[in-house]
Amino acid sequence: MATSFRTRGTNLTRAKTHNHRVVLEIIRTRGPIGRSEIADITSLSRQTVQNIVAELDAEGIVEMHAGKASGRGHPGMNVQIRASHAFSLGFHVDRLAVTAIACDLMGQVVWSGTGHLVAPSTSSANALVLKLAEDFRKAHPDEASRLFGVGLAAPGPFAADADELAHLSSSSDATTFTEFGLPENLKTLSQELNLPVVLQNDASAAALGEHVYGLGRAYGNFAFIQFGIGLGAGFVLNGAIYPGPSKNAGEIGHIQVQPRGLACSCGSRGCLERYLSLHALCERLGLDPTLAASLIRIDQLFEAQDPALLAWMDDVAPYLRQAINIIEMMLDPEAIILGGIVRPAFIETLLQRAEPLHPRLAPSAPGARRIHVGTSGTRAVALGASAAAVDALFAPSVSHLVLQAE
Ligand SMILES: [Zn+2]
Repeated sequence: MATSFRTRGTNLTRAKTHNHRVVLEIIRTRGPIGRSEIADITSLSRQTVQNIVAELDAEGIVEMHAGKASGRGHPGMNVQIRASHAFSLGFHVDRLAVTAIACDLMGQVVWSGTGHLVAPSTSSANALVLKLAEDFRKAHPDEASRLFGVGLAAPGPFAADADELAHLSSSSDATTFTEFGLPENLKTLSQELNLPVVLQNDASAAALGEHVYGLGRAYGNFAFIQFGIGLGAGFVLNGAIYPGPSKNAGEIGHIQVQPRGLACSCGSRGCLERYLSLHALCERLGLDPTLAASLIRIDQLFEAQDPALLAWMDDVAPYLRQAINIIEMMLDPEAIILGGIVRPAFIETLLQRAEPLHPRLAPSAPGARRIHVGTSGTRAVALGASAAAVDALFAPSVSHLVLQAE
């Protein structure tokens, strides 16, 4: 298995906060795991690991249980996250719908809800987020009292402020939700929810979800392609999500694949998502991409193996082959995982039409699959958003808590 931890520990006392985060990260992404294995992975001394684990145990953040007996010795104690210690809410927001899930620290979904926006605007998205959060609090008051944060995932590109937003010509397109991600809107939502919030683009969130809870656990380097109204990608590199400095890494939908192709809302021409996206499919089928009913219709057409839909797949499959080729040549990932807001069988069918794929420079081991369809289906982004909340909001607060407890 590839290494999928972020960084090595250090035995310096002043680096204690850092060490707690490193150990907790290993336990969260690799547990249940023995303390000596944590020491091996982090290069921390066994005593340091013992002390950190004991503190996390005393705080109720991790729990110990007997591991499998190995050799002649006693079975060791393994440590794992105490899943019910805290909960996060993850929201997948786009211009049509909001999907919400509440997860424990191990990504077990304890509640989920969904709704359609009244209008494709930030105010109706906010209203729906708040309503769903209230639904969860009413249905699960005990878990809700242990909420520590909220992850929000929406299609980018994102802008730093209203000025920058004004310069993004794509900001009002159905494939994006730039204004939802504006810092001032996040601040409003955080105040209304009375919880800290963290934002990621939808594809990065899905990549993180796969990294922590899904197929991506097996890889330190992979890309996730999100097939939504638009098209995006998220990257896990050296065991960590790579969001890019402006959180816009992976906007592969705007890679130009046809220099004199169709005009795109971003101001360019021939962008990948003008061909390979639900927006493009809606255009082909004469459906309105700003209506949730169009997605339901597409699902029905796929179910019926509609010839027009399958013909579209044949036409755009070369673009999927090209996208996979670009990502493989650029990043040399161990795997690419495909997902989106359509059912997995839809992605599977599209992928079959894209095969045979372009060869890789370094061929995979015989029989090894390099392209996978994600396991979390249409909830992948919301699940990843909750994982982002754990990543950004829970782990630092743990270190803070433990240091304060001394
Ligand atoms: Zn574009």
